[in-house]
Formats: sequence, C-alpha cells, structure tokens
Amino acid sequence: MLFGLPFTPEQQLIQKTSAAFAKDRVAPGAADRDHSGRFPIQLLGEMAALGLMGIKIPVDDGGAGADCVSYALAVYEVSRACASVGVTMAVCNLAGDILSRYGNEEQKKRLLWPYLEGKLGAGTFCLSEPHSGSDAAALTTTAVRDSDTWVLNGSKQWITNGGYAGLHLVFVKTAPEKKSHGISCFVIERGTPGLVVGKEEKKMGLKGSNTVQLHFEDCRVPAKNLIGELDRGYAIALAQLDGGRIGIAAQACGIADAALAEGAKYANTRRAFGKTIAEQQATQFAVADAAVDVDMAKLLTLRAAAAKDAGSARTARESSMAKLMASEAACRVADRMLQVHGGNGYVDDYPIERLYRDARVTRIYEGTSEVQRVVIARDVLQA
Ligand SMILES: Cc1cc2nc3c(=O)[nH]c(=O)nc-3n(C[C@H](O)[C@H](O)[C@H](O)COP(=O)(O)OP(=O)(O)OC[C@H]3O[C@@H](n4cnc5c(N)ncnc54)[C@H](O)[C@@H]3O)c2cc1C
Repeated sequence: MLFGLPFTPEQQLIQKTSAAFAKDRVAPGAADRDHSGRFPIQLLGEMAALGLMGIKIPVDDGGAGADCVSYALAVYEVSRACASVGVTMAVCNLAGDILSRYGNEEQKKRLLWPYLEGKLGAGTFCLSEPHSGSDAAALTTTAVRDSDTWVLNGSKQWITNGGYAGLHLVFVKTAPEKKSHGISCFVIERGTPGLVVGKEEKKMGLKGSNTVQLHFEDCRVPAKNLIGELDRGYAIALAQLDGGRIGIAAQACGIADAALAEGAKYANTRRAFGKTIAEQQATQFAVADAAVDVDMAKLLTLRAAAAKDAGSARTARESSMAKLMASEAACRVADRMLQVHGGNGYVDDYPIERLYRDARVTRIYEGTSEVQRVVIARDVLQA
C-alpha cells in the first residue's frame, strides 16, 4: 500500500497473501461481476481459507489474529482488483468482529467458528432502515420479548451481502422509549422463519456486491441470540463503525490507486498532436495531483489503523478523517483519470468507467462525508 514504510513481517505476509489472491482470483472476474451483478459465492470459501473473513479476530476465536494495519492492507489489495469483492469482504469482517468482541462462548462456538471456516457464507451488518441512515438511532425495527424468544418486526435497507448471507447482525429497538439507549443487537441465521429477503437494489456501481432490503415479519429469534447486553447495542454499532470506516477508507485507497494506474497507462499510449498525452503538461498536472491525493489518502488510512492498533479507546476522529479524505480523493482521482481517457473513459471498454462508478458510494456508506465532518468537528471543538 505504501512501500518503504516499516511494516511488520506479519503485516507484509497478509499484504502479499491478499495481493496474490486479488491478482489471481479477484481481478480476472471484475468486469464480468460488474456486468452480471452476481457475486461468485465460492470466493467466500477461498477468503475463509486464507483467513480473510476474520483478519482482526483473535486466533483463540478462530480468526487470523492480525492487526488493523493488516486489515487495511488486505481490503486495499482486494479493492484495487475489484471494489465489489472488497466491500463484501469488509462487511464479512465487520460481522465476525461483532461476534468475536461481544458474543459469549456458546455463540462463538455455535456460530463464529463455523462462520470463519467458511461454512455459513457471508455476514451482514444491519443498521440502516428505509427512514433512518445518518440518524441511525431513529431506527424503528422492534423486538418484543415472548418467553424464550424475541419477536422482530420492521425492515432494514441497503444490506450488503443480505441476499445470500448466513449470519445477520441486526440492530433493533428493544426499549423504544429509551431511544439510542434502547437498541440491542441480535445475530439471526439464514432460514429463520419471518426473515424475508426483499428487493435487490440496482446500483450505479459496486454491481458485483449484493445489496438488498431485509424484512422481519414476526421473526422469532431465540433469546440466546442476543449479542452483548440488552439495550446496549447502539454502543456496539458505533464502536464497529469506527473500525468499519477504516475499511471503507482502505477500499477507497484501492479504487484510487487502480484509477491512477489506469490513467497513467492510457496517457503513455494515447497520442495527440504528435506526442503521447503523457507528454502534455496538462496531463502531467492531473497525474501529479492524483498521485498526491492517493498518498494523502493512504497515509491517513494507515494512521487511523495504527491508532487502533496502539490501543486508543476510540479513534473516531482519525477514522473519520481517513474515510473522508480517502473517499473524496477516490472520486477526484477517478474523475481526473476518466478525463485523461477522453471519450474512451465514458464507455465500458476500459476499467476507468467502472472505477468511477464504484468510487462514488464510498462518500455515502458507513457515514456520508457530511457525517464524517460532523464527527471530526465535534472532536476538534470539544478538545
Ligand atoms: C451500496 C450501499 C451499501 C450499503 N450497505 C449498508 C450495510 O451493509 N448496512 C447498513 O446498515 N447500511 C448500509 N448502507 C447504508 C448507508 O450507510 C447509508 O446510506 C448512509 O449512512 C446514509 O444514510 P441515508 O442514505 O439514509 O441518507 P440520509 O441520512 O437521509 O442523508 C441524506 C443527505 O443528508 C445529509 N445529512 C444527514 N444528516 C446530516 C447532518 N447532521 N449534517 C449534515 N448533513 C447531513 C447526508 O450527508 C446526505 O447527504 C449502504 C448504502 C449503500 C448505498
């Protein structure tokens, strides 16, 4: 990701493993996945075998036991090859992290271990709803206790991996009158009666990743599937988003790097006015600005990951800065490099068209750019 930095041998191993997986197994199908809108499920098993489903999860819980810098390097490498696979992997890690950090031993044995072995398929993180996104605490899906089960009713929106996932980490109101202090987290298995997969979204980009609505219609979830303490789920969601944003920042770095490489390659071959367009100073300035953007994004992303690894209790400011910078940079770089392609940038004969579309959502999910600014400003003004 940033060569020359003093990565540990373990970080280098994960980066190399992810880069090889990305080159051999992910990059070759990127254009096909974009056209078909289908995610090849067998890739999940391959990720699990390489330890990429639970990169930060301790070895004692069945994970790879690596650090957050390693996680960022892995998401970066895979996203550079295909952002759809990158986000699928990032969300799978997010779901596993919740089970590892907040689940009890019975839940880990029953669900986390098989999940990390690739036996349960993908995981999801179900927070957003049709009428609550940035204002996540306004969610209205409820769970009401009935003997040894909880009965869920409501709908979740924009759920990545939702169409085929084996495990769903779902945030619901268990005490609506207590607002954000009345939200709990449940793990729900595929096939639970009352869990209905709804509309699949037709997205502008990331077409190879699955995004659906999920409906809960008197969905009965065993009480033993409560994750962490009752009514304390919102703190889990916030803590996980803090780390999740580093993942999306790493994804954006991967997209930006791929766009810059495509732009440079094209500029060196396309000729205009008797020389390559790379020899035109205007192109050189666009490439230089894009390269600075890419490196700023990588530095902030690695700083946020390193802060997490250093044990900072909350790294909201660092994570939000990384996510804001990297996502905005990815869109700027993809736009500039599409311009370098001229008309060829506007058709799907060249990867830059897909990269441009894939970059856009990084400014929206896991908190919009505006929400990142709210988080950063709050931290600065309270300091
Ligand atoms: C492809 C895709 C995949 C996704 N995957 C998941 C997933 O797996 N799980 C999940 O839970 N969610 C997921 N999301 C949802 C995503 O996190 C939300 O879309 C995002 O948080 C924004 O919420 P919203 O769409 O409701 O926009 P809104 O909250 O309605 O915001 C609309 C606009 O208002 C602005 N705004 C809102 N509040 C403020 C404020 N206080 N100050 C300034 N501006 C503000 C926003 O920045 C935005 O520009 C996904 C979304 C997409 C598009």
